[in-house]
Formats: sequence, structure tokens, C-alpha cells
Amino acid sequence: MQVVDSACDAFITIEGRKLLNLCSNNYLGLAADERLKRAAVRAIRTFGVGTGASRLVSGNIRLHQQLEEKLAKFKKQEACLVYPAGYSTNLGIISVLAGRSDIVLCDRLNHASIVDGIILSRAELMRYAHKDLRALERLLRKSPKHKRKLIITDSVFSMDGDIAPVPGLLELARKHDCLLILDDAHATGVLGKNGRGALEHFGLNADERIVQMGTLSKAVGCLGGFVCGSKDLIDYLVNRSRPFIFTTGLPAAICASALTAIGIIEKDAGLRRRLWENANFLRGGLKSLGFETLESETPIVPVLTKEPALTMEFSRRLFETGVFVQGIRPPTVPEGTSRLRVTVMATHTKKDLEFALEKFQMIGKTLGGI
Ligand SMILES: *Cc1c(COP(=O)(O)O)cnc(C)c1O
Repeated sequence: MQVVDSACDAFITIEGRKLLNLCSNNYLGLAADERLKRAAVRAIRTFGVGTGASRLVSGNIRLHQQLEEKLAKFKKQEACLVYPAGYSTNLGIISVLAGRSDIVLCDRLNHASIVDGIILSRAELMRYAHKDLRALERLLRKSPKHKRKLIITDSVFSMDGDIAPVPGLLELARKHDCLLILDDAHATGVLGKNGRGALEHFGLNADERIVQMGTLSKAVGCLGGFVCGSKDLIDYLVNRSRPFIFTTGLPAAICASALTAIGIIEKDAGLRRRLWENANFLRGGLKSLGFETLESETPIVPVLTKEPALTMEFSRRLFETGVFVQGIRPPTVPEGTSRLRVTVMATHTKKDLEFALEKFQMIGKTLGGI
């Protein structure tokens, strides 16, 4: 693991060198925003650092309640529950909503936390080909009628940067009477006019049939995960969800900075506009240099290098020239699809991205990958 000696920003410091940071999920640059830092410091003065217990015991502070109300409003849903991580949120939701006699239909490229949640639930896992609605429908028709079914998808795929066909998934969920869980980890603050996520992006309304989860660790710039849905669903999770019950409440500093971040996301559309301008500029640039960027349509831009050794060498040479991009290999991605996972931030300048493109071109020419 690389050791970082600075905040997660457009540039970060590693081994005493300042590098252009093209591999964080801090899309809006909020992780090191002064307003979030101030909110965190203020909260620590009142509430201290740790919350000291599970939220069901004595660790449920006023800021948890405020954050959950804010997120429920932001997602236009009745209620919300915050977990200490996005990872445990997926474990917590899936293990409660699916059980031993149920079937969970899962996009083949869904995040590892979803797969682990399904394993924990003991439900039967059925994977469908990536974004393939026909394959999903075949599985739905083939599976026993009497079994409860649940469809689950990343709304923005974390390694490919493409967007799930949510309207089609919702139609199938209605037709076959199942729940649809949307993982908005990379969509929160990024997709939709107001950054509300995949439903806003597609012009869809919240619906009894849809459970929305998201993270506070990516564009929100903090830590934690959340789930939004009906009041009944949230009450049920509070009483049944072991990854919520048997863990300590999120620290005050994180709650306060996340509250501030959601406020900024709601108000500052310019931040999101700059993110998308940067994403389109960098993706367009990489493509016109001849790199393969898969189906990317978001600020996550994979550069396909296929072979693990080439991928890591490419990453090492980028590092030497001042650009930090991690290589991603199996098992995080399927065999033969190793890649440099490039992500842009709203706080990168055009000059920063031009610098990166120049390095990509130079290294691609000598090493291959173009
Ligand atoms: C990152 C991620 C998570 C886990 O979130 P953390 O807050 O990092 O624990 C869950 N789902 C998806 C799709 C993710 O990309």
C-alpha cells in the first residue's frame, strides 16, 4: 500500500513527491474542503471523538438523527439509516431483505460488498450478464414462482464507470414483483441535476419497490453508508440489521462534515458541472489517443491494459512522471481486463488533465496499451 502524507486532493504527497491524483473517489474535492473541516472540528468540541457505543445503547447522538433526516430529504424518501461504512450498509440491507429461501439477482460486475451481503443472507445468488435485461428476465422466468426475488445493481459501476439501465430494471422488478436495490455509491453527488443519484438521473421517483443505498465516503468526502426507504423499512433494519446493531455509531466529526457536504452538493451545481466537464475532457482525450475506455460515461474512466504486468508497469511509469493512477487487477476485475482506473475530480484544472494526457501518450507509445 502506498503511504500518503497529505489530504486527498487534486494533488497528493507520496514518498515526498507531489503527484496529480487521478485515483480517488473524492469526485467533488470535498474530502479536504475547509467547510467540512470546520464542521468536523466544531462537532468534536461538543461531542468528542468516538461515540463510545452502538447506537442502540448510548452511541446515538443528535447528529446521527440530523444527518439521517437530511439524507432522507435529499433522496426524497421517508426515512434513512446511516451505517459506519458503505460496505457494512450493503451487508446490513441484503442480509435482512433476503433470506435462506430467496433468490438475489445480481449484475455480474456488482461491487464485492453486494456479493458478500448475498453470501451473508444465505439466499441463492444468481448473476446476470452485465446490464443485460434479457438475461435477467430469462433468470426471473426460469426461477421458481413461489420464491421471493430481489434485484440488486450498482447504479454507477465502480470499475467500468458505466450506468445501470435503471428504468428497465424497475420495469422487470414490477413485472416480476421483486424489490430493486440500487447502490448509489458512485452516483451520490455525481448523477442527476441536484446530485441525488440514479433515480434523479433517469427522472424516476422514489417507489415502495426501490431501496436506495449510498455512501458518504466518495463524492460526499467523508465516511459511512446510508440506506433510504420507507419508515417501516428503516425501523425493521434498526431492529434486525446486525452490521448496524453490533457496531459503534459513526463519529460526530464525520456526521457533521457529511451534513455540510450534502448542503454543498444541494446548493453548488457548479461543482458538479466542473466534474462532468473534466470527466468528458479526460475521457475524450484518452479515447482520441487510442486508449480503450470501455463503456465509461461517468467520472470513472478505465484505461484497459488487459495484462496485470503491463498495467502495473504503466502505473509505475505514470508515478515516475508525476501522475498517480493505481492499476486494478483480478480478482477486483475479470481476468484479461486489468486496467488503470482513472478518476477525475471537480478540482482538477484543464492544465492538470492536459499534463496527464501527455504522460499517458508518452508511456503508451513506449510501453503499449494504445
Ligand atoms: C465503495 C463502494 C461500496 C463501499 O463503500 P465504502 O463506503 O467504501 O465502504 C459499496 N458499493 C459500491 C458500488 C462501491 O463502489
